[in-house]
Amino acid sequence: MSSLSVPPPKCLQKTFVAPRRHMFGPGPSNVPPRILAAGAEPIIGHMHPEMLEIMSDIKSGIQYAFQTQNNMTIAVSGTGHTAMECAIFNAVEPGEGVLTAVNGIWGERAAEMAERIGARVNSIVTTAGGYFTSEEIDQALAKHKPVLFFLTHGESSTGVVHPLDGIGDICHKHNCLFLVDCVASMGGAPLYMDKQGIDILYSGSQKVLNAPPGTAPISFSERACQKVFNRKTKPVSFFLDMTWLANYWGCDGKPTRIYHHTAPVSAFYSLRESLAILAEQGLENSWQRHKEVAQYFHEGLEKMGLKLFVKDKNARLPTVTTIVAPPGYDWKEITSYIMKNHNLEISGGLGPSVGQVLRVGLMGGNSSKASVDMVLEALRDALRYCHKSKV
Ligand code: PMP
Repeated sequence: MSSLSVPPPKCLQKTFVAPRRHMFGPGPSNVPPRILAAGAEPIIGHMHPEMLEIMSDIKSGIQYAFQTQNNMTIAVSGTGHTAMECAIFNAVEPGEGVLTAVNGIWGERAAEMAERIGARVNSIVTTAGGYFTSEEIDQALAKHKPVLFFLTHGESSTGVVHPLDGIGDICHKHNCLFLVDCVASMGGAPLYMDKQGIDILYSGSQKVLNAPPGTAPISFSERACQKVFNRKTKPVSFFLDMTWLANYWGCDGKPTRIYHHTAPVSAFYSLRESLAILAEQGLENSWQRHKEVAQYFHEGLEKMGLKLFVKDKNARLPTVTTIVAPPGYDWKEITSYIMKNHNLEISGGLGPSVGQVLRVGLMGGNSSKASVDMVLEALRDALRYCHKSKV
């Protein structure tokens, strides 16, 4: 008789095959065969010389995607949230001030993370779909005197791309570090970390890069490093401590690397491949393609009589489009209908945009006119067949 009280689960006897879907929500996006194949290569040790070379390649790829010369450039093992926490946990000590710009969910989340480490948190808030002027940011920095200012470049919950020019200088005038989230915008909208005076920038793997979720690029400027490596207290997280990660990624100039954690080896292979594809295509070409495809999409939506949630054309995020939820319809019925009948994911709103919008993400390889035509056809079909109330 077996000593086990829990038998082998029956469900695990079935073979799993992942469904093939058009991943046109705000992420994850479809992973092209070349990146999937890279992830299926055999595992090697996370500190073998070949792996260290892959990490060095990833670092160069991120420097290119971020347009930065920062030596302190790595990928954290985890999703975009991990990079968010890495930025905040390393740059801020308990009792210090943090200011977050809230024009969607990401500024709220950053505020919550900073609160959890005992920071003094203030936020400036504007309507979903809006963004902040330099004057508003300048005034808030003067009033609250934070050590860190958080801004989302590509607000995926509202579909806004935030202007960045000049904000770095304003932050520095107030002796404050400028932290930017580009999870949903990197590779899809112009971004220049060094030229724009961004001190900490992070992204994710599963959007424009088309790699599987689970790794997150992050980079720290010299000014950010001054703060991060001269702390009085240790960061609350051992896993995200940049002193350890800097050594692990060979960024601290020390001759030996010390084991910190087991790198997600396959995820790094995929990330490397995705950055190689971006480098081959060229960053500016990628920005341009996302812009043109988004314009084509937006025109198509307007021709169908649908309205875009972001009124200011220049503030529309090229990667994630927010469409005003069609009046009289239940948005959940539309997204379910499209999933069921077109095998295609689009999503509803998030945070402040829940119930107000449909969100469509066309990122990396998914950013094409063929994908747009597919989404427009699916929407046309859904609006014909989904229930519409008379009121
Ligand atoms: N920031 C933005 C702008 C995002 O779009 C996302 C993902 N939707 C995140 C942060 C968080 O990334 P993840 O889901 O990979 O943790």
